[in-house]
Amino acid sequence: MKNDNRKVALVGTGFVGMSYAYAMLNQNACDELVLIDIDRKKAEGEAMDLNHGLAFSGSHMKIYAGAYEDCKDADIVAISAGVSQKPGESRLDLLQRNTEVFRSIIDPVVSSGFQGVFLIATNPVDIMAHITQKLSGFDRKHVIGTGTTLDTARLRYMLGEYFQVDPRNVHAYVMGEHGDSEFVPWSQALIATKPVLQICRENGGNQNCEGMERISKDVKNAAQKIIEAKKSTYYGIGMAMVRITKAILGNESSVLTVSAMLDGEYGRHDVYVGVPCIVNRNGIERIISLSLTKEESDLFNHSCDLLQQTYQGIQFG
Ligand code: NAD
Repeated sequence: MKNDNRKVALVGTGFVGMSYAYAMLNQNACDELVLIDIDRKKAEGEAMDLNHGLAFSGSHMKIYAGAYEDCKDADIVAISAGVSQKPGESRLDLLQRNTEVFRSIIDPVVSSGFQGVFLIATNPVDIMAHITQKLSGFDRKHVIGTGTTLDTARLRYMLGEYFQVDPRNVHAYVMGEHGDSEFVPWSQALIATKPVLQICRENGGNQNCEGMERISKDVKNAAQKIIEAKKSTYYGIGMAMVRITKAILGNESSVLTVSAMLDGEYGRHDVYVGVPCIVNRNGIERIISLSLTKEESDLFNHSCDLLQQTYQGIQFG
């Protein structure tokens, strides 16, 4: 990865993509940002709009609408392109259509000579990351899904509220599929260095395990609640994507619960799933294997089984 010009190509300039681009600009997270979309005119309009805001930001970012050839020297290709469910369409049919969308993106990106890191946000994100790895043939370390990064941020925010502690001092993760089978391994949740379960036992009445269960459910249902209120979610995921981007470009070795391909970790192989990972310039530098309880391992395996079943249903033609 080059250090002099931090370049990101974004494919998919819809709500999620543009929330990412807007947050990238405001956080001055790269030097060059290329916007690519099947709707070229939309990408051009978005580039103009962001460029007109440059004067009000502290950034000198070069922003333009481009084509797949522009991915050649990018450090990251972020993908939030996709089609949405048609009335009466099954989830698997939608997945099949999005597989074709991804083929039309990944093939030209790879042909451009791109050698950086793919960052995938399109849902179902664990499966789309796996599809990207398969279609690109890239090393598993260089294909990252946003996974449960946003869910983990929601969890830390809610625990912070519950215990009246700064979320930055809450260490807890959401693991598994970014979806219904995700779960919180409470045995691994800490406030500063004190286990949450121990705090609950000591506090009994006020802060208890039922409170933890409610928080788990609220985290899982958060996206649905937002969709009911405003049709889709995009700011949070856009910012989660920037967080991952900064960990890569800044070679931070930060721990983030991204979607990574397991190769023996947690006793599983050939599945993309949300797990705590060390993320830096090399993409996924290392997956952190937590000591889960038997019950937590069962939940994790259930999530992996569901993801593997779904992935195996896809026809690659
Ligand atoms: P959107 O419809 O606003 O944007 C999708 C964009 O993709 C559009 O601009 C469209 O023109 C473009 N596109 C479609 N086909 C393309 C192709 N073949 N090549 C290039 N571009 C193409 O949708 P959105 O609200 O931005 O959501 C995008 C994705 O992000 C969805 O899959 C959504 O479920 C997902 N999402 C993920 C998370 C997460 O936590 N990972 C959170 C929210 C949304």
